[in-house]
Amino acid sequence: SPVMAKSKFEYVRNFETDDTCLRNCYIVVRLDGRNFHKFADQHNFAKPNDDRALGLMTRSARSVMEELEDIVIAYGQSDEYSFVFKRSSNWFKRRASKLMTHVASQFSSSYVFYWRDYFGEQPLLYPPGFDGRVVLYPSNRNLRDYLSWRQADCHINNLYNTVFWSLVLKGGLSTVQAEDRLKGTVAGDKNEILFSEFNINYNNEPLHHRKGTALIWEKIDETTTKQIKVSNEEKEVTVTRSRKRVTAHHCDIIGDQFWNEHPEILED
Ligand code: ATP
Ligand code: ATP
Ligand code: MG
Ligand code: MG
Ligand code: MG
Ligand code: MG
Ligand code: MG
Repeated sequence: SPVMAKSKFEYVRNFETDDTCLRNCYIVVRLDGRNFHKFADQHNFAKPNDDRALGLMTRSARSVMEELEDIVIAYGQSDEYSFVFKRSSNWFKRRASKLMTHVASQFSSSYVFYWRDYFGEQPLLYPPGFDGRVVLYPSNRNLRDYLSWRQADCHINNLYNTVFWSLVLKGGLSTVQAEDRLKGTVAGDKNEILFSEFNINYNNEPLHHRKGTALIWEKIDETTTKQIKVSNEEKEVTVTRSRKRVTAHHCDIIGDQFWNEHPEILED
């Protein structure tokens, strides 16, 4: 700026290093809650899934998508959210530190700002924090595999946690006993324990727990009626305009169907 005239101190700017993200790559910023195991305990999160906490995470991610530029999809589960900038984005000249810190701070401040909408009278006991990292993916296949990896992680953890907390809360096992019981079990064993001992069909568990949450931009047609005056006569007309809105999806994003239904997310 003109006020910041050149001074003999200017040279220190040259100590800044270049962190421009390689062109043509998707830029992924993943956030993860700091020490949320403890945060969940101290704020009495329901086990294994607290819907207030999941709702607040998604509300905060929505704020990130709406306030920042060029994010085409976000995917969240547990205390983490990934944000994907379109590969042609030139926001902040693709500077990694700018993108990552804007995502992390917008998300963190939203988490606090919207806390009350999800937790009501239950107080927020201390300011939560989130770490961030930046990863570049050069191809659509790589990006899809990244998101598949996070959704597979959601599935593995949720299956484990669902059995674990069934054994503890309904089966009367201690947490140590439940851990022992599950050592060395594969997915089939866990499904079987759930079904035979707790009458739970894992596939009927809530979709948003099993699949996590994908946020994308979608065109929504909004129809409103307006009163207009045409040569002193009141007339009612319907106006349809399409607006882009962030929508939430709790579906499989590993297979092709989701991507075929939303071809605008990926670029060639
Ligand atoms: P950018 O997003 O690029 O940082 P900016 O609007 O934040 O844009 P800055 O160069 O960071 O631009 O300048 C911050 C501006 O915020 C100041 O120019 C001033 O107008 C305002 N500001 C910040 N702190 C104060 C303060 N304590 N009192 C009054 N104004 C303030
Ligand atoms: P780090 O700081 O290394 O990330 P962490 O304690 O946050 O440590 P994570 O691996 O990120 O460890 O795990 C997050 C933990 O937060 C989960 O294991 C779970 O205990 C808790 N948690 C997060 N979201 C929820 C939720 N919606 N419902 C219940 N528990 C949750
Ligand atoms: Mg400033
Ligand atoms: Mg972690
Ligand atoms: Mg964490
Ligand atoms: Mg985590
Ligand atoms: Mg500023």
